[in-house]
Amino acid sequence: MTLLFDLPAVPTVPVLGPIPGVEARYPVRRIFCVGRNYAAHALELGNAVDREAPIWFNKAPAALCLSGETIAYPPGTANCHYEMELVVAIGAPAFRVAPENAMAAVYGYACGLDMTRRDLQNAAKAKGYPWDTGKDFENGAVMAAITPADQLGAVAGQRITLAQNGATKQDGTLSDMIWSIPELIADLSRLYHLEPGDLIYTGTPAGVGAVASGDVLEGTIDGLTPVRLEIGAAE
Ligand code: MN
Repeated sequence: MTLLFDLPAVPTVPVLGPIPGVEARYPVRRIFCVGRNYAAHALELGNAVDREAPIWFNKAPAALCLSGETIAYPPGTANCHYEMELVVAIGAPAFRVAPENAMAAVYGYACGLDMTRRDLQNAAKAKGYPWDTGKDFENGAVMAAITPADQLGAVAGQRITLAQNGATKQDGTLSDMIWSIPELIADLSRLYHLEPGDLIYTGTPAGVGAVASGDVLEGTIDGLTPVRLEIGAAE
């Protein structure tokens, strides 16, 4: 078989020290994201808070951007927002798992930014159209290095923050999530065969806002490597 052209290699994310002295990387297969998982954020966007079911959307692996990059201000938008999130990296298969068994599928955790073309997302929402162009775009899924789950310990009341040019804009705790990590994995595993390489962006606390060229975004979660992104000029 002859391939007509070569595709880029599968995108990968650095992993903090699972094997001493060896730089391991986590290959990315799929990127799942959940919307409205913090009550105060749902309200700030004018959405009702409910426990009916998590709201899922996807980003392509081609949207991945590693922490530390400077990206061009994204095309097609005049209102690009940051959303600081905990990212869960799946490390074992999971299909129709119960919440009490779901944590066995977790490899590790990372700080991430769910960059959002809010104007495109809002226009799609108003018409009942898919969110894809608002959410799934190049450099729209930003991620720092993954910390193995046993190094972080339990996900509980860790603080999650986002600073824009040094000013704190988002400041919450992971325990504010409406759907917990095991509940999210259990729900997603009803819909997909989760496999190693699958990432889950778990939603953002209140305080999202627009970015501008020249901005520096720095996001933290207690116990994890911070995520950093600079916004360059538009292309
Ligand atoms: Mn989000």
